[in-house]
Amino acid sequence: MRKVAIYGKGGIGKSTTTQNTVAGLVAMGRKIMVVGCDPKADSTRLLLGGLAQKSVLDSLREEGEDVELEDIRKEGYGGTLCVESGGPEPGVGCAGRGIITSINMLESLGAYEESVGLDYAFYDVLGDVVCGGFAMPIRDGKAEEIYIVVSGEMMAMYAANNISKGIVKFAQSGSVRLGGLICNSRSVDNEKEMIEEFAKMLGTEMIYFVPRDNDVQRAEINRKTVIEWKPEAPQAEEYRGLAKAIDGNTNFVVPTPLEIEQLEKLLMDYGLMN
Ligand code: ADP
Ligand code: MG
Repeated sequence: MRKVAIYGKGGIGKSTTTQNTVAGLVAMGRKIMVVGCDPKADSTRLLLGGLAQKSVLDSLREEGEDVELEDIRKEGYGGTLCVESGGPEPGVGCAGRGIITSINMLESLGAYEESVGLDYAFYDVLGDVVCGGFAMPIRDGKAEEIYIVVSGEMMAMYAANNISKGIVKFAQSGSVRLGGLICNSRSVDNEKEMIEEFAKMLGTEMIYFVPRDNDVQRAEINRKTVIEWKPEAPQAEEYRGLAKAIDGNTNFVVPTPLEIEQLEKLLMDYGLMN
């Protein structure tokens, strides 16, 4: 089983990209579990056809310790298995803790056992907060393969660089590696070239360039991935391309994060800070 985590700045498109990629992998015959690790608990909405999921933390709060696998794991599009960690009540406690609790719970309930026949577990992780809880999936080899969703906007690149620093920290003691950058386009000038260069400086590659396309919103309103809603749409083909790129990826590295000055120079070189 490949253990993949998708990180990136809030709002960059992690949940959208993860679910659409998963739909692409389903078409390739892969069996996948998706674990939402964001207190927003919207990581599986497009696969489940709505926010039908009760989060692990909600279940624990309401039902106490005797939670069953069926309470927290629902079957979605193409036989995908969907889990949402959830979060604490607003203003109370650490959101990262939900992730720790959920992964432990899933393990003890046998969600990862060989008999389940998983090819992939995907963790969709809020990543602009660098606290212990959000780093949980990359500790102890819970997730081994990281993809960072990024765009040509400075704060998205800044977050990607910080996440890379986190990977370096945990790579020393464990098996976590960076599998590449996914550029989710914000239609910034020279974006593709700049992110390709950014990836090179980080010691990795841009594994795919996902164009910005309003069909993503149209599918979202229908509570579906683009692949399910309109399989013949050009954007569906892009997500199938991204799924293929991830499925065939063999380039896993310990990244080399940039100094802030290098990051600023990169943005200047590509004409964004004039
Ligand atoms: P995150 O999970 O990183 O917080 P989301 O996946 O929720 O971000 O994406 C935020 C919004 O961006 C979504 O409402 C989605 O419709 C939009 N979006 C994401 N990717 C694209 C894209 N390639 N083209 C158009 N809109 C997109
Ligand atoms: Mg999200």
